[in-house]
Amino acid sequence: MHTKYCTRCVYPAIAASALTFDEEGVCSGCRVAMQTVDIDWDARFKFLQGLVAEYRSESNYDILIPVSGGKDSYYQTHVAVRELGLKPLLVTYHGNNYFPEGEVNLRRMREVFDCDHLIVSPSEDVLVRMNRLGFKVQGDMNWHNHCGIFTVPIQLAVRYKVPLMLWGEHGFMDLGGMYSYKDFVEFTAKTRLEHSLRGFDWFDFTDAGLEKLGRPELKEGLQPRDLLWAQYPSDDEIDEVGVRGIYLSNFVRWDANEHVRLVMEQYGWESARQPFERTYRLFSNLDDIHENGVHDYLKYIKIGYGRATDHACKDIRAGRMTRDEGIEMVRKYDHVKPRTDLERWLAYVGMTEPEFDEVCDGFRDPRVWRKEQGEWKKANIWD
Ligand SMILES: [Zn+2]
Repeated sequence: MHTKYCTRCVYPAIAASALTFDEEGVCSGCRVAMQTVDIDWDARFKFLQGLVAEYRSESNYDILIPVSGGKDSYYQTHVAVRELGLKPLLVTYHGNNYFPEGEVNLRRMREVFDCDHLIVSPSEDVLVRMNRLGFKVQGDMNWHNHCGIFTVPIQLAVRYKVPLMLWGEHGFMDLGGMYSYKDFVEFTAKTRLEHSLRGFDWFDFTDAGLEKLGRPELKEGLQPRDLLWAQYPSDDEIDEVGVRGIYLSNFVRWDANEHVRLVMEQYGWESARQPFERTYRLFSNLDDIHENGVHDYLKYIKIGYGRATDHACKDIRAGRMTRDEGIEMVRKYDHVKPRTDLERWLAYVGMTEPEFDEVCDGFRDPRVWRKEQGEWKKANIWD
């Protein structure tokens, strides 16, 4: 069994964000990251100043910022308020499973930035059902999170008539080089549906939707009005306000480690109080207990790598880690079954570990995994 890996970072050819490789065996994610060295960032920031000038308002918010309370949320808001002098509306989808430190960071934003902040928290009972459904239908208990994060801000942009949304990084561009920095890519409903939501939409999780999917045994009694927070606005509603979403990483040089230093120093932002079971980075994903735990373990089950690989790729590209050090992180973390986190999630949704393992095995990618004498095996970067 053989898998191709990028010669510069630690990504395998079969990755969650589609990668291409050039003649030197370097992946598209690395190549796009290298573009940032030659960009005239001063000129880009001036361009951003001109762009937001068209959206300044006398009577309304100037801009809407989708925030989770994480380091990127603080940085986006810092740039909007302190560097661009905008009045933002902060919007959060709250999926019910914040770490305590993540919750503190989230709730402090309206104080430290003197902003209005709308937090949408769906019913806990509906979210538990959505955890079970996301896991069984799609192999991702946090499907509801991806949906809420990429739906609620657009709903509120329409409702409050704030046309400009400011996102942080474009995830698939950052990891896999899905777009070039020359594209100035913006948010689209197509990327939301096809990539963030993996082709599923809210109606697939209602009883009628599961009937249509041919999975009636999974019905959780959800009706359309239980999932109002998940329903993307119509094209007409969006066009009437002229909603568009830009990515800050196209206009300022993105350096996660540097941004963490800034938001800790200036705003008292807190990183994780305890280490994670599946990655070494302490400053990512504090908005969901399971994001770096069971959710990420499922990614490993599906395609053979996890967040330690993602984090190592980011740090190698940023020049903060060598490829060999990255490989050590992958070796240490990617395979770990997160005990504490798994127990918490199983209790949350009322499932046993054997049931969990059985569903997991159904999602293993046959290009990555094979069974040998009852054990699942895959190729590794250090082989
Ligand atoms: Zn690479």
